[in-house]
Amino acid sequence: MPDAAGRRGRLFVLSGPSGVGKSTVLTLLRQELDDVHYSVSATTRFPRPGERNGVHYYFVSTERFAEMVEAGEMLEHAFFAGNHYGTPRESVEECLAAGQDVLLEIEVQGARQVRRYPGLGEEAVLLFLAPPSFEELARRLTGRGTEDEATKQARLDAARDELAAEVEFDHTVVNHDVKTSAAALIDLITGPGTSRADGAARTQENDPVPGGTDENSTTNSRTLSDLVTVDPAATTDKK
Ligand code: ADP
Ligand code: 5GP
Repeated sequence: MPDAAGRRGRLFVLSGPSGVGKSTVLTLLRQELDDVHYSVSATTRFPRPGERNGVHYYFVSTERFAEMVEAGEMLEHAFFAGNHYGTPRESVEECLAAGQDVLLEIEVQGARQVRRYPGLGEEAVLLFLAPPSFEELARRLTGRGTEDEATKQARLDAARDELAAEVEFDHTVVNHDVKTSAAALIDLITGPGTSRADGAARTQENDPVPGGTDENSTTNSRTLSDLVTVDPAATTDKK
């Protein structure tokens, strides 16, 4: 059922390589945009310290994950760096039907599936969070300290392909600074005209070179003085 004005919610997908800062930026964004539904994914990976079931993820067994996929409960799902991840479909569809905007934070394979999802993908707005450079991405992933060396390498290997996929997204924000990136995403999500068409008209100025360079300018358009200060180095909470 659409909201009182008959409007369906809009679906936003935030993607980008592991370690770029998606969760950190989202933490800030959530404090500002509390009328958006933030989907909680299911995953087979083990919880990190501080992560809570049902809050950061639904932590499920591989068998349970397969059952959910088999039963058609996933909007999209992907195998990423050794673990399964997926978006439970029902709550997303219910929120959109009720007129609430929804945000998914997922990796690139999942974003592609959302784009192809009948009745949803055409209108979904795909947002890409890019690192200032590949070296900075590696630094952030190392600095987070949540992965062993092999897992970190798997994530960095995946990042090369993910960075090349940036051109498939509607908008790119280069995450130089957490607050500025959050502000840019808020602008994109709340902006009246945000749509795929806006992305198609993306200017060169907003285009990071795949793989990134420190000189890239961004879609970041303002600094948020009203957002809570977050020390990026201290923020490792997931979703
Ligand atoms: P993702 O969710 O994309 O995997 P995280 O949000 O966990 O990434 O961020 C990875 C690491 O990078 C964390 O230690 C975080 O504090 C740090 N970080 C995030 N954004 C920035 C930034 N703009 N500048 C410096 N460090 C950042
Ligand atoms: P992490 O293990 O660091 O929490 O997540 C690894 C990657 O999986 C991140 O890029 C994150 O965005 C992505 N991810 C989280 N939830 C989902 C999901 O439901 N579907 C997909 N496809 N990717 C997800």
